[in-house]
Amino acid sequence: MDSCVPLPMEPKVLQEITEKAKDYALMHGICMRRKDAFDRDALHFAPFLLLPSAFPKGEFERACQLQTILNELMHKVAHDREFLIATLAQTVKVDEFTRRLVDIYNTVAQEGVAQNVSLGLFRSDYFLCCGKGVIQQVEFNSIASSFGGITSYLYKAHKFVLGELGRKDLLDRIPENNSLSGLSGAMLEAHKIYNQPKAVILFIVEDVTYNICDQKFHEFKIREMNPDVFVERKTLTEVANEGHLDNQKRLFVDGKEIAVIYFRCGYSPDQYPSEREWDARLMMERSMAIKSPSIHYHLAGTKKVQQELALPGTLERFCDDPEKIKSIKSIFTGLYTLDKGEEGDKSVAMAMKNPERFVLKPQREGGGNNTYGDDIPPFLESIKDSEERNAYILMDRILPPKTMNYVVRPGHEKAELKEVISELGIFGYVIGDQNRIISNHQVGHMLRTKLSHVNEGGVAAGLGALDSVFLVDVEKCCEAPCTDLDGCCQ
Ligand code: ADP
Ligand code: MG
Repeated sequence: MDSCVPLPMEPKVLQEITEKAKDYALMHGICMRRKDAFDRDALHFAPFLLLPSAFPKGEFERACQLQTILNELMHKVAHDREFLIATLAQTVKVDEFTRRLVDIYNTVAQEGVAQNVSLGLFRSDYFLCCGKGVIQQVEFNSIASSFGGITSYLYKAHKFVLGELGRKDLLDRIPENNSLSGLSGAMLEAHKIYNQPKAVILFIVEDVTYNICDQKFHEFKIREMNPDVFVERKTLTEVANEGHLDNQKRLFVDGKEIAVIYFRCGYSPDQYPSEREWDARLMMERSMAIKSPSIHYHLAGTKKVQQELALPGTLERFCDDPEKIKSIKSIFTGLYTLDKGEEGDKSVAMAMKNPERFVLKPQREGGGNNTYGDDIPPFLESIKDSEERNAYILMDRILPPKTMNYVVRPGHEKAELKEVISELGIFGYVIGDQNRIISNHQVGHMLRTKLSHVNEGGVAAGLGALDSVFLVDVEKCCEAPCTDLDGCCQ
């Protein structure tokens, strides 16, 4: 796909626009704290793409329209106890982290759930598949879906850049992005349902937050949208030390009643360094507070559930509309069980034969956990005779189209022209309980772009960068077949 302006840019123009863009980012909070040179009181701009990246208009719109269908699907999956338990049965035998989440789920179910309403702040991620020219789902995030805050400002930075380059004619090709007000509004809606005006919204945060602007934007937006609702930030450890339930299971932390809990932490084993953090998670799950995610939403977002949903016949359990089923199926790429048994053995053999066609995934979130290509066979070899296999799933590797763009990184004077690929995320929220869905909306999007040769593009790690969508009118992204792989994800 072509860039929105001709490349490469003339060096002087490039230098000037890069500096303007850096300043725009710094002054609008498109920023992070630095991991390598941490300073609590300083921010650096987050890595970003100088120009917005091309994305086919039709597929972008399809992804947006699909979000409410996916929200509903995941809401139903999360409320199907039998399905969740059966799907994760093999996983929990070998994956301690998932087992502990399921333990909490079971404990609370046995005791009786105090809060039936859940708040899902979701993000569905896609690559455009080069071979098919359509979006394919990478994963569905039900916990700590990030960058809704920053990217709501970044698209304006990209409009500023194109304007400065004298390309006002292109501005309407960058779609509006209101994920921040959408997600913040969702938390306020849940707060209203809780119906205690003085109760606060609790953000569960890491000991040190690097992606601070993204989180803080939500806090500020909530205060702006409703000056009477306050946000508290606490770590899991602080909740363990300062929290308690009263006899009605209302949660109090540091003396304040909690209406809504927004987890920006708690998705990874290292975020539970001791039993205290697990105690805190259980206490919150037991409570009357409305949680995003509730434990069942968290479990519905596991990769194992994603793989199970792609099996023939599973979607029909949750949806009786053939059109909806068709549209959901169209975004699934090949997903395969690795569980011990006949089916799993087939997947192992397939991955050993053509490892470059697959990605191997554990039940983890947050990036950096997957295994790719040549690393797959030795890894599978080491686990193929043990039950440990059940902790993983196998997925077709999606090959998105490569484009050229300038990556702007803190500490690098010059923007670098690189071959990159982009991953689209669509935000949505759902509020509801076992019996009904109260709200269901799509609320914005994000784009992350990484160097084309790296497997994973963590923004904080410097390999990925934040981006905006530049809509282009192409049915098929690249006419030529992929050069790396014959017939990728066909
Ligand atoms: P996490 O929960 O760690 O974010 P993901 O499933 O999103 O797990 O994988 C992390 C990253 O790995 C993605 O952002 C993407 O860059 C890459 N990736 C994941 N699945 C695929 C796939 N099927 N094909 C190509 N790249 C993938
Ligand atoms: Mg991901």
